[in-house]
Amino acid sequence: MLDADLTTPPTGEAEEDLFHQLFRRHSSIMLLIDAEAGIIAGANPAAAAFYGYSQNALRGMQIGRISSQPGHEVLHELQRAQEERRNFCVFRHRLAGGELRTVEVHPSAIDIGSRPLLFCIVFDITERQRALDSLRLASLVYQKSSEAMSVIDGNGTIVNINPAFTEITGYTEAQAIGRNIRMLHSQRESPQTYARMWKTMARDGRWQGELWGRRRSGQDFLLSLTLNSIYQPDGSIQCNVGLFSDITKKRETDELIWRQANFDTLTGLPNRSMFHDRLQQAMLKANRGGQQVALLFLDLDFFKEVNDTLGHSVGDRLLQEAARRVRACVRETDTVARLGGDEFTVILEELNDTRSVERAVGNILRELAEPFHLGTEQVYISASIGITFYPADGRETDTLLKNADQAMYASKAQGRNRYSYFTTSMQEAAQLRKRLVTDLRTALHEKQFRVYYQPIIDLGSGRICKAEALIRWQHPVRGLISPAEFIPVAEETGMIVELGEWIFRQAARQAGAWRVRHDPAFQISVNVSPVQLQREGINHESWLGCLESMQLPGQGMVMEITEGMLMDSSRGVSSQLLRFRDNGVQAALDDFGTGYSSLSYLKKFDIDYIKIDKSFVQNLAPGSDDMALCDAIIVMAHKLGIKVVAEGVETEGQRRLLAASKCDYAQGYLFSRPVPAEEFEQLF
Ligand code: C2E
Ligand code: CA
Ligand code: CA
Repeated sequence: MLDADLTTPPTGEAEEDLFHQLFRRHSSIMLLIDAEAGIIAGANPAAAAFYGYSQNALRGMQIGRISSQPGHEVLHELQRAQEERRNFCVFRHRLAGGELRTVEVHPSAIDIGSRPLLFCIVFDITERQRALDSLRLASLVYQKSSEAMSVIDGNGTIVNINPAFTEITGYTEAQAIGRNIRMLHSQRESPQTYARMWKTMARDGRWQGELWGRRRSGQDFLLSLTLNSIYQPDGSIQCNVGLFSDITKKRETDELIWRQANFDTLTGLPNRSMFHDRLQQAMLKANRGGQQVALLFLDLDFFKEVNDTLGHSVGDRLLQEAARRVRACVRETDTVARLGGDEFTVILEELNDTRSVERAVGNILRELAEPFHLGTEQVYISASIGITFYPADGRETDTLLKNADQAMYASKAQGRNRYSYFTTSMQEAAQLRKRLVTDLRTALHEKQFRVYYQPIIDLGSGRICKAEALIRWQHPVRGLISPAEFIPVAEETGMIVELGEWIFRQAARQAGAWRVRHDPAFQISVNVSPVQLQREGINHESWLGCLESMQLPGQGMVMEITEGMLMDSSRGVSSQLLRFRDNGVQAALDDFGTGYSSLSYLKKFDIDYIKIDKSFVQNLAPGSDDMALCDAIIVMAHKLGIKVVAEGVETEGQRRLLAASKCDYAQGYLFSRPVPAEEFEQLF
């Protein structure tokens, strides 16, 4: 109802009546606003229902109460809309309950009486606004998304794409719209793959997966794709929407990570973890087919020497080339893996007879024994191989690996460049070795070692002038254990360093004592293992300090070394030996004739004695090859100013022949076995 104050309208009565009726009955929200006072002059029932106030309450209310803005701003804006001939303004109106709604206010100035009135029709556009907002948002997402989007019609024709689609595929809107989505198909996928995809779409209205696509440039890319059908109300397909991202890079890094976890980066061969998987698979396959699997454990001989002498980069290339050669000796389906260092494994599958194993192993040995041309270097190595069979020798991967390792070790012990089959006795030997290692650890502290001395005779005078110190181990259970058995173990475990120092002290003390009591020029020689001349081997200060504290001149001691040690110049053997030499300690070359027997080394290392190996002495007979060899060695040594000791002299005949050849010294059972110091005392 219009305010009673309002005076007669300028129009006719019928018209006024009509307006009144409209105002009262119309479902639109209508307000009359006093544009001067900024108050609501009238509100229709629809307005009362909307705002939640009674018509009476609304009448006379400041418009600021129902607006989120102050009243004067509202008025100002309405005025401006009028002036600018805009149809409406948008406001936020507050309902009685406090809720804010977005409204469109359509004002028109009317004249009723003297006051300027605004007749306003108010539309609640909150819902429409929301829908619009979300539509705008959707479009924004569509535009800005890094995921490519495409809308495709039922025939596969592209209807719409977003910028990310262009970014990934290289097709602009102009180039893509109207064309069939088939343009993205890659040769890498079979036509069946695409057919299956659309079949699933037809059935489920949805498909998700990874497949290869092709960019406009022709380059393939891997996409992670989701397809969805959008349906009409009648159930027919309106369109299909495809969402995809380019996962080529991700797949590449995933693959790289996978490769790094499973393959050796240097050789490209499977690594230890992959090897275990493959062996497991091979075992399962063998079970099904009732066949055997052969596992080879391969260790390169002399690799360490190459690596130490020629450097790591040559060592790396040697490993790469060795890996390639081994790989070339086996079938595509067999596995060659690198466990680390110079250790490789080979899995030979689907074996019907074991002869093929022998053939493969023979080839591998032959190939690896061929020279390696690494840049300017030519390198010779070989390999030691151990072979074990599944299921005959073991049913667990770990057992098989241990077996093959033990068999490889047997190959090494037998002189390298060969293969050995795993046997149960090897296993027993390995267990024995393990025990030996444990026992060896305590032996020194438990005082189970003894040093025996074997006299060395001056062949000219027949007098004892030197002795060789030889270690003995009195094992509490096993009795006397030969150094040939435990020295290699002590070398491998590094215990030889501690043991060697102990022997040196014992021998030095003994030499000092005998020099005082029997012969002021008496010498004792000690055997020095290669391991002792390596990095953390001999402690010079300690050894030389020992001589000093005993007031023993260096000349009282001789170090027996082997030829192999001289070959390996990288280990600084010469500088190590020189430190002793500077203090008067002499050097003897042990087991001469069994190794490289190179003259140049004798000169280079300033050797004082060479000891002819007993294998030559044992077969001495007038006119024999060994006799000629001994003669030659003696003549040559004397030319170089080196004295000669013959080892293993057991007979009077051997002694006489050696003496006739002007050999300087002799050592052997003929004179005495190695004996404890007290017994030696009797020999003087
Ligand atoms: P080696 O240095 O060649 O020592 C000589 C070996 O020949 C000794 O064996 C000795 O007992 C043996 N022998 C001496 N005269 C005769 C003979 O007339 N006929 C025969 N058939 N043999 C004879 P042993 O004491 O069993 O030592 C074996 C090897 O163990 C030594 O060979 C040496 O390489 C090593 N070894 C012994 N003691 C030590 C040690 O204290 N330190 C190190 N690093 N190695 C040692
Ligand atoms: Ca010796
Ligand atoms: Ca010897």
